[in-house]
Amino acid sequence: MTDSPVLPPSSLRLTIDRGALAANWQALNALSVGGRAGAAVKADCYGLGVDACVPVLRDAGCETFFVAHWSEVAAVIAHVPPAQVAVLHGVLNDADCAYAKATGAMPVINSLDQAMLWTANDGGRCHLMVDTGINRLGIAVGDANDPQIAALDVDILMSHLACADEDSPMNARQLAALRAVASAVPHQRLSLANSAGIGLGSDYAFDLTRPGLALYGGAPRAELSGLIRPVTQVEAAILQTRTLSAGDSVGYNAAFTAPSPMRVGTVSMGYADGFLRSRGSGNALHHGGRRLPILGKVSMDMVVVDLTAAPELAAGEWLQVPWNIADAAQQNSLSPYEMLTVIGRRLRGG
Ligand SMILES: *Cc1c(COP(=O)(O)O)cnc(C)c1O
Repeated sequence: MTDSPVLPPSSLRLTIDRGALAANWQALNALSVGGRAGAAVKADCYGLGVDACVPVLRDAGCETFFVAHWSEVAAVIAHVPPAQVAVLHGVLNDADCAYAKATGAMPVINSLDQAMLWTANDGGRCHLMVDTGINRLGIAVGDANDPQIAALDVDILMSHLACADEDSPMNARQLAALRAVASAVPHQRLSLANSAGIGLGSDYAFDLTRPGLALYGGAPRAELSGLIRPVTQVEAAILQTRTLSAGDSVGYNAAFTAPSPMRVGTVSMGYADGFLRSRGSGNALHHGGRRLPILGKVSMDMVVVDLTAAPELAAGEWLQVPWNIADAAQQNSLSPYEMLTVIGRRLRGG
């Protein structure tokens, strides 16, 4: 028998501020006047990790958790009661229905076909999505009186806003459409607002809100920006330093050429970690308050930075990688949703 090898520390660090995550849920719950906040935990809590985030949300008081796929259920029900987990893509076949019943997670029924399938499988209580204008998933408003819908035992009757991060007339139209359906379809709880929808005010809160992005530090509307705290901090270590001569180039396609001698550092952060090429040239990593510009292209697993402002830094020292998704200036060509969901397994440490 040999002991299993001890994994050395990583050269990448994703720190989740659990206190900030709990505070964000509590702030969003307090804004959900008259109701409660749930949590969208799909896509591995938007890249931050179910095991890190779901227990924090549960302990903060959250009792309803949304995932997209059945494959996401097992990780979440390791932490919360299965009946608190709702699967947004619903049921597409008998295997989905069997899995729902075996686990106790509940589907969000999205069409008359899904309703028929769920009933044929003796599904029991479920949730129901009605499409009020995003044209993505959900039964049509005109289907609300269909016998297939009447046959369902609906807990959460929900709809999803298309333009909640804008002051669009679409928001009020979707609100009115959901109210009309709510009077036709018996249900336990009514739900409309995602993170941005919570910022639209208490008319949109109903019994349950479904924040995702704002839990993890995004502020999609100005009404939320003072209340939401950053949750993620990303750091990467310098792997090697070198001194370039004037005329030396850096990285793939030699996209940067040193105009004069300069000290540079090669840093362990790249595409596979979620640091995409669009975040390369023109951007910077930081040490303390000092800005260390990225030179050339992000090259797979690494970036090279200019160490002129921090000449004492050596291999093994940690640099801060901007990942504050509430700060639009950091977003470059990526949306805050993309900045989180591209976080790679290697960076997450899973
Ligand atoms: C992802 C999702 C949410 C959460 O949206 P955010 O904009 O991240 O707050 C809420 N409801 C549904 C149906 C979703 O798919």
